[in-house]
Amino acid sequence: MPEELRAKILSEFAKYTGQIKPAAFFKWTHRYIPEIDRFHNLITGIFKPAWSGYALCILIKQGSIYEDKDEFVFLDDGRWLMTYSPRKGGLEIPDNVALANCMQDKVPVGVIAQITPKTHKKSGSTYQILGLGIVTDYNPIQDVFEIQSIDWDTLENVTSIMKDEEERYQVQLYAQLANEFRPFVKEELVTYSVSAPKREASFRKVLLQEYQYTCAICNLKFKLDNLVEAQAVHIVPKKENGTDDPRNGIAMCRTHHWAFDNGIFSLTNNREIILSEKIYQAELSNFPLVEMNHRPILLPQNELIRPHSEALTWHRNYHGFC
Ligand SMILES: [Zn+2]
Repeated sequence: MPEELRAKILSEFAKYTGQIKPAAFFKWTHRYIPEIDRFHNLITGIFKPAWSGYALCILIKQGSIYEDKDEFVFLDDGRWLMTYSPRKGGLEIPDNVALANCMQDKVPVGVIAQITPKTHKKSGSTYQILGLGIVTDYNPIQDVFEIQSIDWDTLENVTSIMKDEEERYQVQLYAQLANEFRPFVKEELVTYSVSAPKREASFRKVLLQEYQYTCAICNLKFKLDNLVEAQAVHIVPKKENGTDDPRNGIAMCRTHHWAFDNGIFSLTNNREIILSEKIYQAELSNFPLVEMNHRPILLPQNELIRPHSEALTWHRNYHGFC
């Protein structure tokens, strides 16, 4: 079933959205993910596997696309939009037909952009995964396709291949990471296939894994199989319509979670602890915050997951810092 295979490959691909990987990750994907042959052959820009009439993955060659703002912009909802130059020859060329087929039937494609060339001394050629895209238009005069990052409904559709709902929502969370951060969800624009308790559980899993089950404030950790002390905190809380985007999250122990939610401390945009005046008015004994003013917090290795300054600014304003 080519369409099932495609959905499976693209769901795996989406997990790595925003990350930078070496050429081998795309050409010899099976070395990293045994059940997947390859994401892209890196020979031509448009990769169409023999088993499908649709393009599977497209490559933007040469340098970073962010250098040319005219070709890469963000939409109001944070999704990216770009133009893509196919192989010369218009829609007569088979590869271009494969991408036009994606446009016609609204079949998503993986999108990667080359970051460093083969000759790069340290890393050789590397590519950033921009995530799943939807081909929305073809302009025959300029000979360019218009591609947008995947909308929520299409993402739900592709990932519906994943029967485990928590796993599915985890992929959906990672799939947003090349989009521009938005601190609030517009619930009216989103229909979830995953229930609220399972979404909560997925958010928790993603954050705790990324922070290695450790409080970002005091580095406290307790993990014994499923028995974990640390909690996943929404910076902009759910009751204020805060998003489950991992950039709106931090792992904290129970005491620091409580203190953060009550505005007893907040974080600067440089992710340093700032204490509220409240702490000096309270009766305290052994309260693990007093000595921590201006201390930097622990950050996850994955830079894409770090707490976003827009969410932190909201938290400071909400709790009367600044
Ligand atoms: Zn703590």
